[in-house]
Amino acid sequence: MPENAPYNLDNASFRDSVATIGDDGKRNWIYPKKPSGRYHTYRLIASIVFLSFLFTGPFLQIDGHPMFLFNILERKFIIFGFPFWPQDFFLFVLAMLTFFVFIILFTAIFGRLWCGWACPQTIFMEMVFRKIEYWIEGDAGSQKKLNNQNWTSEKIAKKASKHFLFFLISFIISNTFLAYIIGVERLWQLMEHGPARHSGTFIALVLFTSVFYGVFSRFREQVCLVVCPYGRLQGVLLDRNSVVIAYDYTRGEQRGKITKNSVRKEGDCIDCSLCVQVCPTGIDIRNGTQLECVNCTACIDACDHVMDKVGFEKGLIRYASENEIANKSKFKFTGRIAGYSLVLAVLFTVLASFVAFRSDVEATILRTPGQLYQLIGEDSISNLYNIQLVNKTFKDIPVTLVLNGFKGKIRYVGNELSDLKRDSVSSAVFFLVLPRNEIDQSKTKVSFTLSSEGKPLQNIETYFMGVK
Ligand code: SF4
Ligand code: SF4
Repeated sequence: MPENAPYNLDNASFRDSVATIGDDGKRNWIYPKKPSGRYHTYRLIASIVFLSFLFTGPFLQIDGHPMFLFNILERKFIIFGFPFWPQDFFLFVLAMLTFFVFIILFTAIFGRLWCGWACPQTIFMEMVFRKIEYWIEGDAGSQKKLNNQNWTSEKIAKKASKHFLFFLISFIISNTFLAYIIGVERLWQLMEHGPARHSGTFIALVLFTSVFYGVFSRFREQVCLVVCPYGRLQGVLLDRNSVVIAYDYTRGEQRGKITKNSVRKEGDCIDCSLCVQVCPTGIDIRNGTQLECVNCTACIDACDHVMDKVGFEKGLIRYASENEIANKSKFKFTGRIAGYSLVLAVLFTVLASFVAFRSDVEATILRTPGQLYQLIGEDSISNLYNIQLVNKTFKDIPVTLVLNGFKGKIRYVGNELSDLKRDSVSSAVFFLVLPRNEIDQSKTKVSFTLSSEGKPLQNIETYFMGVK
């Protein structure tokens, strides 16, 4: 309940139950009224941009390579055309940390803006699947009537076509995600070969399609209410300064029906309940900010429409902080926001520096396990090493390995180190032969420089075992 609220909600019955659970403990199916209005149009445009980006993402290429690839199976990742390898895992961890701090900061200031405007669950549910439902079954009233009526040919036709389209779109979503994982070319190949030759992939596709279909046809708002951890964190992320979708109780209360030909003594809320009827999670925003509110803006549009009709000022429900509504105070840059901003700035700087200075080639040299040292004649001693090199770019890179600080020799076993093939891992085996008079301990630190066309790429250190 909002502090300072000029009405008493302490005994309000909404506290006793969740809108989506009935008195018998069963699911209350929500039939939200079709939303329309200014914010809905903006959200529709944002959703079209987001969906276009999501569905064209796997087809976008830079120099013949996908712009995005998240191949977890082969541990290959391409983000905005830059290839990343498992060796870059620390960058992923750092990026995740930065992202989490950004989410915390963003939520502290703007509340659940993400949920309403950019979350794939809300976008698919409200802007794709729900729209199909309205198109086939009509608005909330018609849907309820259809569900309660007997199985006539009309009901069968409507339900069958709706669920067919739901399944088809779920299948397209699954294929799109698969394309992000294995790339579009592989996906076309799988389609050409047919399910029989790739039964594992096909079963995974069917499973994911079924999950998407189940989520969007049945589970719906429950994802936001009981599964999504972000929604459940709102209690700790929001404060009185956060901008949320809020009912202006100072203006709206005491609510009361509008009556003709009498001077209105009540507040601006005419208790029409339209804001509740459009809510896809079934809540009454007039009871204050609630965990269930996914910031879909439907109640803002519905209430603005009502205010317009009765000749009151729009914005009885609007984006506002509790402080703005209760004390009419503007946004404050609090110590909490300053702290989050500082941490975010530091993390972002560190991440950007690591990405900017990331080496194109990463090499590791390890002594071959099970080998100590070999005496060569009277005056030399050798160790056997394995070198592994990752070329993280999309071009071949010629490399040479040079020993630093010793008068030794590198003798390759088999192929010499030469061109590193693009976007691949190479390895070589070599003996490092050192004069005995340069060794004065059993374990000596040695270093190599890996260069490409005279330009040093990386210094690599390891140990040389031997006796004097
Ligand atoms: S839509 Fe506006 S006027 Fe109608 S009940 Fe909700 S807050 Fe009150
Ligand atoms: S309260 Fe309003 S913004 Fe929140 S979910 Fe319901 S309709 Fe959407």
